This record gives sequence, C-alpha cells and structure tokens, in this order.
Amino acid sequence: GAARDASDVPGRVRVAVRLRPKNAEERVADADYADCVELQPELKRLKLRKNNWDTDTYEFDEVLTESASQKRVYEVVAKPVVESVLDGYNGTVLAYGQTGTGKTYTLGQLGEEDVSDRGIMVRSMEDILAEISPETDSVCVSYLQLYMETIQDLLNPANDNIPIVEDPRTGEVSLPGATVVEIRNQHSFMELLQLGEANRFAANTKLNTESSRSHAILMVQMKRSVRVGEPSSSEDEDHSQSVKNCNPPVVRKGKLVVVDLAGSERIHKSGSEGHTLEEAKAINLSLTALGKCINALAENSPHVPIRDSKLTRLLRDSFGGTARTSLIITIGPSPRHRGETTSTILFGQRAM
Ligand code: ADP
Ligand code: MG
Repeated sequence: GAARDASDVPGRVRVAVRLRPKNAEERVADADYADCVELQPELKRLKLRKNNWDTDTYEFDEVLTESASQKRVYEVVAKPVVESVLDGYNGTVLAYGQTGTGKTYTLGQLGEEDVSDRGIMVRSMEDILAEISPETDSVCVSYLQLYMETIQDLLNPANDNIPIVEDPRTGEVSLPGATVVEIRNQHSFMELLQLGEANRFAANTKLNTESSRSHAILMVQMKRSVRVGEPSSSEDEDHSQSVKNCNPPVVRKGKLVVVDLAGSERIHKSGSEGHTLEEAKAINLSLTALGKCINALAENSPHVPIRDSKLTRLLRDSFGGTARTSLIITIGPSPRHRGETTSTILFGQRAM
C-alpha cells in the first residue's frame, strides 16, 4: 500500500521482524512439530501457522531469518537511524518481544569473543565515532533503566529516581541528575555498557526482580560542527569540489535512543510467574502507551498520546515528527509460544 512507498519518510515507524534460531531445548522438544512461522524474506512476508491447515500472512518492512547476521540486522534496522542522527535529527531504535526471543542479543551483544556478534548499540557507536572529529565534536552517553515507572541511572545506582523534564517550548526532553559520559573511543563505550549491565543486575537483585521486567534505555547525544554545503553522511561525497567552502560552521545535534523493552509476555500473564500485580500493571502501562503512540504515528493521527507513560514521555523528542523510528520485533520458532508470537506480530503490524 501507500505506507510501503513512504518507508523512508521520517515520522513513520519502520518495522522489521527477526526470528531467533532454535535453541538446543527446542531442537529436542519441538522436533515432531512444525515451526509456528515460515519466513519469505525476499517477499518481506511472514506466514503464521494458526493450525494444521490455516496460515495468516503478514508483510513487514524487513523480514530477518534465523540466519540473518548481526551486521545485516544493524544495516537494515539501525543504520538509517544512526545516519539521520549524524545529520542532526533524533531517532529511536526499539526492540519488542517475548523474553528469550533475542532483544538483548540484537541490541546489546558486546561481541567480545567474536566481533561478528556485536549488536546494534556497539555498531551504532562505531559508526558515530567514525564520523565525528574529536577536536570539534562530541558524543555523550547515558544508560538508564525504567522499572515500575521509575527511572534509575545504570551508570550511578545512587540516582534511583530521575525526573523527566520537558522544555515546553522546544519539546526537548532532559533527565536532570542522570550521569552523562563523554565517549572518546569504542573501548570506553564497551566498558560503560558493561558497568551498566552490572549495575542493572545488582539493582534488580536488590529489588528481587528480573531484567525482563524493566526497560533498558541507552541515550547517545551527538554534537558536531559542520560547514553547510559539505556533503552529509548519507550523501555521496563529492571530492571534485574545487571551490573551498568558507561558510562558518554550524552545530548539529542529534540524539539516538536505543530501548531494550521489557518482555512483552507480561501483558498477558499478569499475576502469574511470581511477579506482582503492580509490576505487571506498570509494564502494561508503558508497553500499551508505546503501542498507542506507534499506532497514532502509523495512522497519521494528530494526537499522539505521548504523556500516558514515562516511557513515551522519555521518547517525546526522538519519536515522530522529524525523528526516525525503527522497531524490531523478535520472535522464536516454537509452536509452544504461538500465542505470544501472534501478539508480538500484531504489535508490529499495528505500527505499519
Ligand atoms: P531477550 O533479551 O529477548 O530476553 P536474549 O537476547 O537474552 O532474549 O536471547 C535469549 C537467548 O537466545 C540468548 O542466549 C541469546 O544469545 C540467544 N539468541 C537470541 N537471538 C539469537 C540469534 N539471532 N542468534 C543466536 N542466538 C540468539
Ligand atoms: Mg533481554
């Protein structure tokens, strides 16, 4: 339809689906059963098996099979967002799906043993660091956890209730008190991600909860000075320019937000598996609010209900408008999770 032709328009959410390979347990337990999905990546289609004789077919902007590399996933899901951040716009990459389907692998994998395993956070930073000049430009990072409508600083656990402040004039979002660290090289960024993970684990142990019940949010603020008339990162560089560019430099600021969302299964299983009703309500609140905002964008509705949760308030300036948003929904192959897989696919479909 028309939406597909407008796939590169900022404001519209691009949606990719990624299928995780079968794990060892599934290879045994599901051996006698058909997978619940079949992918047709060249057609950008996914077939969901409803029962032995019935399938539903869905189209996405991108369909990533179990053999899609991390590099390819980065290139189709995050790279266009990173490029627009380098051009001075804000952007968001979100991963949504049931716990265990590969959200953290897709976004947060460090790839210490095997660099080809590196996920979207590490690859995004690599591309940003490669583009900016250390003398004039800067890239700063904050790393947060949103749990029970409370924002905690993963870079300094003492900051355990960070407010969201919105500039009423510009709509710009700031988080007073959150640690902001300037990144000079990939090594220090990896160390920061590790520190964040360690603090997340410690905070969740203290609260007696699991990381799948909170959202992890990486914010990257990029500031660079460019001379207008210079080629931007997404255009072809023209080295044949003979006239020297003497325009004064202008500052371009862009923000990249990467969100590893809480496990989507909590929406349906509230009250089960030992977590509290309040916890389930909070996860419901933020994921439902996010879904509503994504729907509103997809429908071009003038009313995007951004105020309904902390998650959406946090994304206010990096979502819709001139911002570029990419959603990756992650699913597993097991027919035992057909219900969860179906609801994840429907969440993704509503964004398109
Ligand atoms: P989630 O964050 O959604 O709960 P994880 O990212 O922790 O899920 O993934 C669950 C497990 O599956 C991890 O052991 C992870 O390494 C593995 N995994 C997920 N996606 C892939 C993939 N595409 N290829 C290989 N292993 C994967
Ligand atoms: Mg995870």
